[in-house]
Amino acid sequence: MGALQKICFATNNSNKLKEVKTLLEGKFEVVGLKDIGCDEDVPETQETIEGNSKQKSEYIWDNYKVKCFADDTGLEVPSINNEPGVYSARYAGPQRDSKANIKLLLQKLEGKEDRSARFKTVISLILDGKIHQFEGIVNGEIIAEETGTDGFGYDPVFVPEGFDKTFAQMTMEAKNKISHRGRAVRKLVDFLI
Ligand code: IMP
Repeated sequence: MGALQKICFATNNSNKLKEVKTLLEGKFEVVGLKDIGCDEDVPETQETIEGNSKQKSEYIWDNYKVKCFADDTGLEVPSINNEPGVYSARYAGPQRDSKANIKLLLQKLEGKEDRSARFKTVISLILDGKIHQFEGIVNGEIIAEETGTDGFGYDPVFVPEGFDKTFAQMTMEAKNKISHRGRAVRKLVDFLI
């Protein structure tokens, strides 16, 4: 067997890198931004999840010329106009504090009957300068109290459809099977192999 092909996942989030490495294990050697010598902040200044995902992968291609993909994710909650959406990471302010983000989300949902929500991930793969996009969605609902200690971001308040526990109560493997990112990555893998 030859060496695995290297591909860069344009993220500094070690949780996400770990999740995606698991999903591509044995198929690709996934490396992060630091591994390609990228220490600067990759710009994500667009107003949509699709736009940010594309912008990040283009930035890496333009500056480092390596095979790469980038993702962008948002939590969309219909009863509050699909907030936090593209602003999910900095919902409660630029400090990108997950606890504060959850607190704000729960405040906004107080008294709302419809607590349905969905995570949406868009992965942009750039090959020789050409963009290919893959979307993954998981529907669910936002519960009133944080439950569980695993995962990150909004995991402690998100219960995926068909389950009675939050993402933060699931193992990474169980979450990967049904998550927005897992679904988008599997589309990416089907395309790549
Ligand atoms: P990103 O574009 O993947 O960095 O995601 C933006 C924000 O969405 C993150 O900072 C988290 O707050 C949230 N998020 C993304 N993926 C997940 C997840 O799998 N679980 C919980 N929150 C997530």
